[in-house]
Amino acid sequence: MSEPRQFIDSALRGVWRHDVAMSRLTSWRAGGIADHVYKPADLDDLVRFMRSFPPEQPLYEVGLGSNLLVRDGGLRGTVLLLHGALSELSLQADGSVYAEAGVPGAKLARFAALHDLRGAEFFAGIPGTLGGMLAMNAGCYGSETWASVLRVQTIDRHGEVRVRTADEYEIAYRHVALRERNDERFIAAWLKFQPGDGEVARQEIKALLSKRIASQPLHMPNAGSVFRNPPGDHAARRTGVRLQCEVRIIGERAESGK
Ligand SMILES: Cc1cc2nc3c(=O)[nH]c(=O)nc-3n(C[C@H](O)[C@H](O)[C@H](O)COP(=O)(O)OP(=O)(O)OC[C@H]3O[C@@H](n4cnc5c(N)ncnc54)[C@H](O)[C@@H]3O)c2cc1C
Repeated sequence: MSEPRQFIDSALRGVWRHDVAMSRLTSWRAGGIADHVYKPADLDDLVRFMRSFPPEQPLYEVGLGSNLLVRDGGLRGTVLLLHGALSELSLQADGSVYAEAGVPGAKLARFAALHDLRGAEFFAGIPGTLGGMLAMNAGCYGSETWASVLRVQTIDRHGEVRVRTADEYEIAYRHVALRERNDERFIAAWLKFQPGDGEVARQEIKALLSKRIASQPLHMPNAGSVFRNPPGDHAARRTGVRLQCEVRIIGERAESGK
């Protein structure tokens, strides 16, 4: 597959790859070939990319691919890879944490503990990026991503950057949707945690990770929970009922792929 020259801006500083096996970009280690993958150099580069990328071309944002099942026929279009691209993480003057969408949960949890903040420990157990966690309202052990969100920063298909508050979204268990439109991706968030003892936070992160290692097959390809828990119950306990899939499924069926 040749370079997507029709939308290349020569000033872009990120990395293009072509004919990339999605099995290399997902924790399930499965999935067909994506035509193009673009990893922006940083946020400015992403803005430039979005301004030059035709809005009608298919574009799939991917973080760590830990909640993604790509069909064997692969993806006709471009994957926007944000892990390792949008990685700024800083403590703000008001005590909030500004994190870009490519920051992994474990890094966010450790950063908060380092700054004597509590309430971010659960992020350490979720092997995704902040962007993916915002999109999924990821959570565990009674905590959810959006409970910590003060504001998010988004970008639309024309490269316009906005700051939005939680009340502009429908937020529920593993569900997040912007009320008025749906062409925006998350590029960052301001998160609020409670002041506390960083050493206690570190111990909690350690305990939480030990619990996961003991109870989950982390050495095998997987995407965490495949099914959504029914209200007040656990999906794993239910038999003979229709369960909703929590994992995002994208891509072409093998017969129609290349
Ligand atoms: C071993 C294991 C344990 C897990 N445990 C948990 C758990 O305890 N709790 C839990 O909630 N989940 C869990 N998960 C699932 C997964 O880690 C989360 O859903 C996580 O939020 C996915 O983040 P990601 O960056 O990998 O997203 P991806 O898998 O890359 O993408 C998931 C979805 O988010 C979208 N997306 C990604 N980035 C952005 C962005 N910047 N803006 C808009 N949309 C975006 C993608 O298009 C896709 O639709 C687990 C997965 C594994 C493999």
